[in-house]
Amino acid sequence: MAHRIPITVAHGDGIGPEIMKATLRIFDAAGAPLDYETIEIGESVYLKGVSSGIPSDAWESLRRTKVFLKSPITTPQGGGYKSLNVTVRKTLGLYANVRPCVSYSPYIVTRHPDMNVVIVRENEEDLYAGIEHRQTQDAYQTLKLVTRPGTEKIVRYAFEYARANGRKKVSCFTKDNIMKLTDGLFHSVFDEVGKEYSDIEQDHWIIDIGSARLADTPSMFDVIVTSNLYGDIISDIAAQITGSVGLGGSANVGESCAMFEAIHGSAPPIAGKGIANPSGLLLGSIMMLVHIGLPEVAERIHNAWLRTIEDGIHTQDIYRDGKSIELVGTDEFAEAVATRLGQKPNVLKAVHYDKERSLCSAVPRLKPRPPQVQELVGVDIFVKYDGSPNDLAAIAQKVENDKLNLRLITNRGVKVWPDGYPETFCTDHWRLRFRAEESVKLALKDVVQALDQAERVGLHFIKTEQLYTFDGIPGFTLGQGE
Ligand code: NAD
Repeated sequence: MAHRIPITVAHGDGIGPEIMKATLRIFDAAGAPLDYETIEIGESVYLKGVSSGIPSDAWESLRRTKVFLKSPITTPQGGGYKSLNVTVRKTLGLYANVRPCVSYSPYIVTRHPDMNVVIVRENEEDLYAGIEHRQTQDAYQTLKLVTRPGTEKIVRYAFEYARANGRKKVSCFTKDNIMKLTDGLFHSVFDEVGKEYSDIEQDHWIIDIGSARLADTPSMFDVIVTSNLYGDIISDIAAQITGSVGLGGSANVGESCAMFEAIHGSAPPIAGKGIANPSGLLLGSIMMLVHIGLPEVAERIHNAWLRTIEDGIHTQDIYRDGKSIELVGTDEFAEAVATRLGQKPNVLKAVHYDKERSLCSAVPRLKPRPPQVQELVGVDIFVKYDGSPNDLAAIAQKVENDKLNLRLITNRGVKVWPDGYPETFCTDHWRLRFRAEESVKLALKDVVQALDQAERVGLHFIKTEQLYTFDGIPGFTLGQGE
């Protein structure tokens, strides 16, 4: 008997079971040599009190098969539930999220007939760290964490993916005009790593105008690499403008494991009606087949799917009078694909997969980084305070010692002392910046001493951030006039 490949499968919530059934029906018809290990995840698991939405025995299966085909799940509303998708991606080190968004004009109505964009989304960092705090009555905070190794891995991955898949250009999207350190790092690593891929055209866009252009003229783009939140948002937009968010498949790739899914969610309003488009999950699963070394099966299924689309057999999300031929439900659509196995599209470009065309799962090697000199030069003490900037400054000055001087006070990032404007609206969340003179050597105990003094003078501090330089370059943004 031919070697069968074990994969872990989760049927998910909402439309999940329907689109998974359709996908596996097509796999069976194509004779995909797979053994399925089914795990339960999502809403039912959350409601049993497992806050991650995934039971511990499911991890055993995932770590054994290293391949996960996952339907969308519903995250229950309310506190205490961790995002299962984020947990799985991070726990298994699935650092790259690959989301091809392709138009199938004229068969699927779209304003963008020439669209063929792959979004490579960083999958482990950024605002998805899930580290949030309520710091005062009025202020809530989330941590945007961006690391140099994480950024280098995703940027290099995007270039490697482009090369392996015959793509010509990689565009980087950031907001580094505002977030100069975090997004600035992403942009500068893109420029730096990009020099090693001179065969590939490259450019950088500020995320706002980049997204506007993507929505308006997607043919300008080929591969886009971006951070986690931006990638999440723009890939839904990109999938939707190909004709339906139901068309987008997604691969989450790591060094040893990979997860394949649809871009979209569990679509509760249409769940159980048998009308969901299974194409997103199917296209995700086609990436899986290539990834696990079954490119011939992937090719047969993908071409049969293209032929189905071309024959006008459409689910309701892409059905248009005058363009489509037959309105079908989820099961009928799967049947239509199954009966077309072995056929190719006539007008749409048939796909060809071989072993070279891959998702490049090897983690890109990191550049050696010489250690930098990290020097403490000050501290930002964040405090909860109800009152005026000048009154706060008078108290904060009592915290000064022979090394640390109060330099400025900001409220929501705007300088309010010295020389603030009375028009500036202030909340109960303030930052006091204490700096040392350049000649002064500062140690952590000086910060502790300042905090001790702050407590004595009645300042309610809610967090501190040490100010460091790295080889003399400030590792913090400067306040106005600093
Ligand atoms: P959604 O993607 O489920 O639905 C958005 C819209 O697209 C809805 O109008 C829906 O009917 C339509 N749609 C989505 N997939 C479709 C398909 N295959 N065929 C036809 N129409 C389709 O987004 P949402 O409503 O914001 O989220 C619903 C739930 O899904 C939430 O609980 C959310 O947390 C979850 N979610 C899960 C994942 C995942 O598991 N990967 C991703 C996103 C959202």
